[in-house]
Amino acid sequence: MQITRRAFLSSASAGIGAAALVPRMAWAGNSFNVGDMEVTTLSDGFLTQPADFMFAPMPQDDLAAFLETRGMTRDANLTPPCNVTLVRHEDRVILFDAGSGTGFLDTVGDLPDALDALGVAPDEITHVVFTHGHADHLWGVLDDFDEPFFYNAQHMMGRVEFDYWADPATLDTIAEDRVPMAAGAKRRLDMVGDQFAFFEDGAEILPGVIARGTFGHSPGHVSFVLANGDAAAMVVGDAIINDHTAFAHPDWPIGADSDREAAAMVRAGLLDQLATDRMTVIGFHLPGSGVGQVERFEGAYRFVPA
Ligand SMILES: [Zn+2]
Repeated sequence: MQITRRAFLSSASAGIGAAALVPRMAWAGNSFNVGDMEVTTLSDGFLTQPADFMFAPMPQDDLAAFLETRGMTRDANLTPPCNVTLVRHEDRVILFDAGSGTGFLDTVGDLPDALDALGVAPDEITHVVFTHGHADHLWGVLDDFDEPFFYNAQHMMGRVEFDYWADPATLDTIAEDRVPMAAGAKRRLDMVGDQFAFFEDGAEILPGVIARGTFGHSPGHVSFVLANGDAAAMVVGDAIINDHTAFAHPDWPIGADSDREAAAMVRAGLLDQLATDRMTVIGFHLPGSGVGQVERFEGAYRFVPA
């Protein structure tokens, strides 16, 4: 595991305009290999959410007791990190999700700076592969001028997920507080649509990249197994959405999931597999750089950061 944070901190202490260079990134990149795939997670910043957005549907007495063991309070805002995954393999430079861009929240939209710090220009990205169509994963496809940011890249999304957000009827059927997100998704898919290709559940969408339908967080959410020789890792997107309750209580419903029952079943299945196979997990909102292992712990699981 190679962490480039120190290079940033040392440039900061040397006073090389670092305040402008790294407005709030705790780290710029975190790299490891899956066979001959080079995997790097990049920070797009962090979300700020009211706790209710996650915790409202959970069993409240059990939740209060659990949060106390974690030193968390029920009412504090949540600030989950946003970790975009970059994979360099053969002649491909693949991004998993595009980050939030500039129109969503003030605390996100750092991906262009993180790519720049890594020396990767937007036009070098060959593929942008989406776990799902929520704002923090999709809205970064457009730049400040509403032009495609990764203009050379083939964009790829699961067929079920694309069809859901591209369908004008979704604006009428989605929960009212999510209408702005649905409208934002449709606008972006309409504008970048001719760069999109679609795939079905189970397909090897690129060499060594296998789509695995993990529907529930969103109607067509997809995770991706990176497989190369004997090595493997899984990009789970938001199928394991946090380290607040998802590992210790995978069965508790999570407010951010659109089908909470399906999402809980998917989460339990993924955690069992990741712990059994000891496969590295990369989670978009998991702590730190989002990379770690899943361990069985006290009748459930825990996240062990890399
Ligand atoms: Zn997300």
